[in-house]
Amino acid sequence: MMQSITVTEYGDPSVLKLQEQQLPEPGPGQLLVKVAATGVNYIETYQREGIYPVPLPFIPGTEYAGTVSAIGPGVSGFSEGDRVATASGDAGYAEYALADADKSISVPEGVDLDIAAALPLQGMTAHYLSNSAFPVQTGQTVLTHAGAGGVGLLLTQLLKAKGATVITTVSGPEKAELARSAGADHVLEYEGFAEEVRELTDGHGVPVVFDGVGQATFDGSLAALARRGTLVLFGAASGPVPPLDLQRLNSGGSLFITRPSLPDYTHTEEERNWRAGELFDALRAGKLQVRIGGRYALADAAQAHRDLQARKTTGKLLLVP
Ligand code: NDP
Repeated sequence: MMQSITVTEYGDPSVLKLQEQQLPEPGPGQLLVKVAATGVNYIETYQREGIYPVPLPFIPGTEYAGTVSAIGPGVSGFSEGDRVATASGDAGYAEYALADADKSISVPEGVDLDIAAALPLQGMTAHYLSNSAFPVQTGQTVLTHAGAGGVGLLLTQLLKAKGATVITTVSGPEKAELARSAGADHVLEYEGFAEEVRELTDGHGVPVVFDGVGQATFDGSLAALARRGTLVLFGAASGPVPPLDLQRLNSGGSLFITRPSLPDYTHTEEERNWRAGELFDALRAGKLQVRIGGRYALADAAQAHRDLQARKTTGKLLLVP
């Protein structure tokens, strides 16, 4: 038997309940992973609320790291005891979880399992945003919101490594300090950010805004763009963006919007390995810092969701079974 967090109805964090479960059995191509740590991600709050519907009952959790404790038929390249991580898993809020072998990453020597659970999902997101959704060039000035958050701290570091000037928004002085320590050049409050971005760019605006906040920042993000700029809308921490009149892209200066999703940017093994490889290389070279902002027992998953949605957190939250 094992413990897991099971959702039997959509709702507020109190629907995240600790339950006893049978240990899952690995099917063809699967690994059974003894979970060392599970990454908490915003997507699990959308799933818990039913905004991204998942059939009930379900165990949340897409990102985790641990050791392989059993192997399903047809798996090659992994052995029992191997240290693995995945950002495309299932049911990770548990002591044991199944992971598709072809979507699992071997955790390199010298990388702790809690860091391996903290980096893949938000790290590969920051990687695809800055390299693929909008390939940022040296010398560009860009805006990214929530610069002290999980994605925000990593994205800021990757943008700085590309030689960009980074403007970011945060709430509060402690978050501002963290964003600065990740390399942000200009740290703004949300109030009036679009006007401040125009001032910082001699009236031009920025070629790209990375916006994971959504509803609360959407209008300002469009207003902060330069002519022919791109809004990369990658999340909705403040709520979903209402339907858009496409004419606004015309009047805003021939703008582009994309609404990307990690699975589309990690679709092939080659792409996953490229993104994960660059992240782990940067980590081991000391060029990328992963901030673990909070560790919670599995039984406290509801509190982790409350804290995340109340904007009380910085960096990455982990569940430690
Ligand atoms: P964060 O750690 O960034 O937490 C969200 C942050 O958003 C908060 O800390 C807060 O920072 C800011 N925020 C602003 N307004 C609100 C609000 N009204 N309610 C809550 N938070 C608010 O989370 P993650 O790093 O896990 O995720 C960031 C975003 O990235 C999410 O929208 C998530 O869905 C998205 N995402 C998208 C992916 C994709 O492929 N499309 C993949 C992974 C994540 P502050 O207090 O400083 O304002």
